Amino acid sequence: MHVLLVEDDDAIAAPLAKGLERQNFTVHREATGLGAVAAAAGTPSPNIVLLDLGLPDIDGYEVCRRIRASSAVPIIVITARGEEIDRVLGLELGADDYMVKPFGFRELVARIHAVTRRVGAQEEPEEPIVQLSGGFTLDRRTRRLTHDDTEIVLTRKEFDLLALLATDQGATHTREEILEQVWDSNWYGPTKTLDVHIASLRKKVGDPGLIETVRGVGFRLRTTDGSSPRSDS
Ligand code: CA
Repeated sequence: MHVLLVEDDDAIAAPLAKGLERQNFTVHREATGLGAVAAAAGTPSPNIVLLDLGLPDIDGYEVCRRIRASSAVPIIVITARGEEIDRVLGLELGADDYMVKPFGFRELVARIHAVTRRVGAQEEPEEPIVQLSGGFTLDRRTRRLTHDDTEIVLTRKEFDLLALLATDQGATHTREEILEQVWDSNWYGPTKTLDVHIASLRKKVGDPGLIETVRGVGFRLRTTDGSSPRSDS
């Protein structure tokens, strides 16, 4: 995966680039806004842009706007400014996520994976009809869940939740990812509502094992009956 790292501060950019390379990313670093805009349009085209807001020429907001004019590449804004207004502005300009300095390296890597996965999932149209283990059929077009042609009536959130888990059956979806996508909720938001919906969903489908709990991480759908679900590392 190609990372375009836009950061004018060598003391931040160098260790970050090194760390990312150790995680098997290829890193191209730019120290100016104009350089970043050019690099985003160049080859190899980046899979993700890590964008510092405070740059010596044009600032990160402007860089974000210019990249967005011609590219849907995921952008994570990196900022030393923690004020809410900056965060909102960053996201309104088309950034996909933001991190406030100082941040942990592991958190950054997790965000990179989450953002690229989310964007990738949007690009590939989902098959409308998905067969789940246990004989359930989920139809995204009609938003119906059926079992032996009998509809199981779900609330909107319950359906969205199940449809999200069905995007990659057997893969663990983290609580944060589910909250973000189904509830549009803040990363640090309350998570109890998720457990309530999972419990209700399990009860309605009458097959509690269909949705598996991955303790401390999230949830996944049971794959084919009898086979062990693949682990998500
Ligand atoms: Ca800077």
